[in-house]
Amino acid sequence: MRAEIIAVGSELLSQARLETNSVFITQKLKESGLKVMRKFVVEDREEEIREALESAMRGSEVVILTGGLGPTHDDITREVVSKALGRELALDTKILEGLKSRYQRVGLKMTDNNLRQARVPEGAESMENPNGTAPGIFLREGKTLLFLLPGPPREMKPMMGQVMDLIGRYKQLTRLYYRQLKVASETESGVDSAIGSIYTSYSSIETTILSSPGMIELMFYWMGEANQQLAEDQLGELVTRVREKLGDSIFTDREEDLEQVVGRMLREKGKTVATAESCTGGLLGKMLTDVPGSSEYYRGGVVCYSNDLKADLVGVNETTLERFGAVSEQVAAQMAVGIRESAGADVGLSVTGIAGPGGGTAEKPIGLVFVGLSSDQVRVKKMSLGGPREAIRIRASRFALDWLRRSLL
Ligand code: AMP
Ligand code: MG
Repeated sequence: MRAEIIAVGSELLSQARLETNSVFITQKLKESGLKVMRKFVVEDREEEIREALESAMRGSEVVILTGGLGPTHDDITREVVSKALGRELALDTKILEGLKSRYQRVGLKMTDNNLRQARVPEGAESMENPNGTAPGIFLREGKTLLFLLPGPPREMKPMMGQVMDLIGRYKQLTRLYYRQLKVASETESGVDSAIGSIYTSYSSIETTILSSPGMIELMFYWMGEANQQLAEDQLGELVTRVREKLGDSIFTDREEDLEQVVGRMLREKGKTVATAESCTGGLLGKMLTDVPGSSEYYRGGVVCYSNDLKADLVGVNETTLERFGAVSEQVAAQMAVGIRESAGADVGLSVTGIAGPGGGTAEKPIGLVFVGLSSDQVRVKKMSLGGPREAIRIRASRFALDWLRRSLL
């Protein structure tokens, strides 16, 4: 089933605000088998709203507008839609009573412009908005189901449940069958050449490969007939074949990050880790501590950016620093050993490298990173990472996490 989204709001066309409502709405629609064919971002202007509305209603069975339902003069979505559909706006006494009691409760006086929010097009149903004054509006026009939702994300999001219930009342919804896999320490092209011939052989499965620094997400969507058994069999078979190719590079088949997987493994094995970071400036520690409850296994870490702190805080040998430089296999090894000992952790993890954009040389180019891992023995891996500074730092941190994960397998 086809859907379209119209985000109304002049600020969404400026540099000041990012349009995010449609991302959330798309996700919710997709879970019930609705595909978003187009989205519009339009000014708070009659002509633009009307054109987008007419165009969307021609093509799709579900059209969702957000924004422009507020009480101020610039918010005109409600009025433009009712005019475009040739329906009068009528006062909805239920909404009016709700507004009155809401204002009473917070001890504010209701102003006349709030009355506008109690008006809905003829034949429309209002939808409750627990987090704001503008109710949502639901209308049927021909074969199209039309929804008007408030713009603020914290008001719009909790209302999507009502939207999906209403769609389910009038249309046959089909559940979305999909599987996902997340892969670390591989390149996008490497993954694609390993599994491309597998996933392209499933004509009823749509595959997307989403790459972000240090991580690749594989999504497999069932696009064939609405047959649960068939969908699950085919998806299961595809995932098994992909697993055979990618092996331990796959770190999860769920909606979770590398640091959550690593955390779970450390907890299960009763092991602790500590970090010594240079070029990642604490990002590795940040990722580890993004997980609630990480104090159970993360002892802590140091950011030893300068040479003298590498010596003072984690005991890197000064002659080693002079001889091999801060970005070297030897220093990475000593950092990992040093933090493991001083923190009393089971595992010491270290990162040192050149994140750029300056500081690269022919011998030690930008993107050169050493990751050290010290447990019963110490090992170091050397990497050449691409991309701008931020990407190099994320890649290096993810690589370190992934190596820790593999060492725990
Ligand atoms: P409105 O309902 O048009 O008065 O919108 C109120 C506020 O909600 C705007 O100032 C934005 O900050 C936010 N907002 C509206 N539409 C969107 C959207 N599509 N994505 C993200 N934020 C939005
Ligand atoms: Mg607005």
